Amino acid sequence: MCAFRHTSRRNIISQEIRETLTGAVDLILPFKCAVCGNVSDTKDRFGDYDRLYQELYGKEPELHICGKCLSEFTACEEIRRWLLCLSEPVENDPVPGLPLYTPFAYTGIAEKCIPKIKFGKQIELARFFGCVMGSLLAKDGICADLMVPVPLSSSRLEERGFNQAGEIAYPVARLNGIPYAEDCLIRTRDTKRQSEIDNRFKRASNMKGAFSVSSEWDVTGLTIAVVDDVVTTGSTLHEAAAALKKAGAADVLCIAFAGNRTVKNAEPF
Ligand SMILES: [Zn+2]
Repeated sequence: MCAFRHTSRRNIISQEIRETLTGAVDLILPFKCAVCGNVSDTKDRFGDYDRLYQELYGKEPELHICGKCLSEFTACEEIRRWLLCLSEPVENDPVPGLPLYTPFAYTGIAEKCIPKIKFGKQIELARFFGCVMGSLLAKDGICADLMVPVPLSSSRLEERGFNQAGEIAYPVARLNGIPYAEDCLIRTRDTKRQSEIDNRFKRASNMKGAFSVSSEWDVTGLTIAVVDDVVTTGSTLHEAAAALKKAGAADVLCIAFAGNRTVKNAEPF
């Protein structure tokens, strides 16, 4: 037998062994749902996602979500996805009427998952959110010249190991053919966690002037989509948008995966 045939045969055997072993391990350690922790029954249903993940990240995902949790990922109806960025308008707003697109309510499954991303460091859940939101943006016909995530402070980035806004924004950008600029916005100072501040005025002043545009980027005349994981009062996205407009951006669309808004200021853009 020539060396080539010998190698091929060996590869086939190791493939068979690999599959058998994988099957055995699956029986011993069934897939665990990343959301509820129960046994996940969705291995086969993730076929398309597996392929997409492989294309975006060059490896297979380890994420599993059970059928029950998966069925709870239901986006708001289209009219409810469009809001004004600030929950309450402010006087002398440098970016009045800033549009916000937020396809999921910050309740139920989203509310369960966000802490798992932020504090449980479940980076793949953020990427899954990004893929889900990316396909919604495509359906809703949203486009931009550049997509930028809301940045974390360097100390929080070090503590968490990744920026969840960036992990959500990257697949959204890729799925929609929008150039992605991870380092376009920079934090000019550390801020307190917005979730630890209950008053909207204090939240606004906590974020005031917290961002600027990196000198590496010229955003003049561009339409920019700025992405965060969650929106509550809108102060963080508003400040990010103000920095982009100040640097010359023509238009800014704020995007958050989930929001806790009522629909009182909803209007389509
Ligand atoms: Zn589950």
